[in-house]
Amino acid sequence: MSFNDNVQLDTSQVGSGGSGGGPGGMVVGGGIGGIILLIIALVFGINPGSLPGGTGTDPGTGGTGQVEPGGSTDPNAFAQCKSGADANRDDTCRVIATVNSVQAFWGDELPRYQRRYTPAKTILYSGSTRSACGTASNQVGPFYCPLDKKVYIDASFFQILTQQFGSSGGPLAQEYVVAHEYGHHIQDILGLLDRAQQDPQGAQSGGVRVELQADCLGGVWAHHATQTKDAQGTTFLKPLSQKDIDDALSAAASVGDDRIQQKTQGQVNPESWTHGSASARQKWFTTGYRSGNLNDCDTFSVANVE
Ligand SMILES: [Zn+2]
Repeated sequence: MSFNDNVQLDTSQVGSGGSGGGPGGMVVGGGIGGIILLIIALVFGINPGSLPGGTGTDPGTGGTGQVEPGGSTDPNAFAQCKSGADANRDDTCRVIATVNSVQAFWGDELPRYQRRYTPAKTILYSGSTRSACGTASNQVGPFYCPLDKKVYIDASFFQILTQQFGSSGGPLAQEYVVAHEYGHHIQDILGLLDRAQQDPQGAQSGGVRVELQADCLGGVWAHHATQTKDAQGTTFLKPLSQKDIDDALSAAASVGDDRIQQKTQGQVNPESWTHGSASARQKWFTTGYRSGNLNDCDTFSVANVE
């Protein structure tokens, strides 16, 4: 979907990071098994091994205390992203506009459930950058790090999504990725993330239920997105078209565990799923999108998430 041209972007909600990734992060089409496996592990994902486990230690930071995760805050890094018109022609600006929209929505919505929304930055990086959950790179895909409360996205991932995973692309496909990661931040606020760590694998596992819930929360945002406004009262997004929805569903399906396993292993093993099947991911995004109601995203109480 498209942003209204005159909506104002707030680049203070994002940070920049990384530059050491070489020429443009050429993961696409590499066909290297190891890279694909890494993507399977973390596409759209939280890193289960990095979730707070009560031990207080995190191998990702090595305990040095001097790593400053979360990228730099160069005020000019996103100077090209000022308005919705910029978001409509530039992937990076589109991520920023989506972050603005998603955070504006949840900032209004969570208080209706007596919860306070705490803003979370997105680190837009190229190549690789440090997070409190370990190194972010364009080989691991977008993720949310609960340890530093930040979303990490390499804009080159959107090419991987279309070229390697076969998504149809389109603006809402990209916006869905951002909304899904902020879904994990909402889960973090609501205290739901540790269910992934307790039961990480399998078609009905806690891990899959966490991921499908993040898809549903992305759908809830999409439902309300065309009414969410910036600080000046300008609506962020124009009304959704069926093409927009089809793009988001295509993106959701393309990263279904069954699709990825079929493509990379030639067989499907539901017991090792971490994110859910293509059809389940579509189903839960659609559930959130249709009703716009957070309570319909309770993937934990249903017997079968498929
Ligand atoms: Zn996820």
